[in-house]
Amino acid sequence: MANFRIGNGYDVHALAQGLPLVLGGVRIESPFGCVAHSDGDVAIHALCDALLGAIAAGDIGKHFPDSSPEFKGIDSKILLSRTVGILRGKGYGVVNADITIAMQAPKLAPHIGKMRETLASVMGIGVEDVSVKATTTEHLGFVGRGEGCEAYAVVLVARE
Ligand SMILES: [Zn+2]
Repeated sequence: MANFRIGNGYDVHALAQGLPLVLGGVRIESPFGCVAHSDGDVAIHALCDALLGAIAAGDIGKHFPDSSPEFKGIDSKILLSRTVGILRGKGYGVVNADITIAMQAPKLAPHIGKMRETLASVMGIGVEDVSVKATTTEHLGFVGRGEGCEAYAVVLVARE
C-alpha cells in the first residue's frame, strides 16, 4: 500500500426528544439527541468510517455491528480508539482529519474547541491536526426540519 492514503466517511442519525446529544465526544445540552444503538455520535461515526476507508478495511458496521449487545449505548470514543488501533495494526497513523457536522439546532460553535481537543486526544494527534466544522442546512431537507443530523469526514493517513 502507498505511504499516504485518504478516506472519507458519512453518517446520519434521526433526532428524538429526550435523548442525550453527544457530538465529537462532547455531551451537549439539547432537548433532543440522536436515535442510535450506540451513543449516536454522528461525527465520530463518520470519522471512524473515513479511517477505515483510508485502509480499505470496510466500515464501522462491519467492525462494531449494531446487532451486538457489546456496543449497546457504547461511548463512541471507544469505537474511535479501537478504529485507530485497527489502522495502527495495518502500519498506518492519522495525519489529519476534517469533519463537517450538519445540524439545524442547537448552535454547535461553542463546542467546536472541546470536540477538537477530545478527538485529537483519542486519536493521539495534535489539536491542530483535527478540524471540526458545523453548518446548518438553512432549514432545507431533513436536517433543516430538525428530523436528523449528518456528518462528513475526510482523513489522511500515513505509513508509520
Ligand atoms: Zn452512526
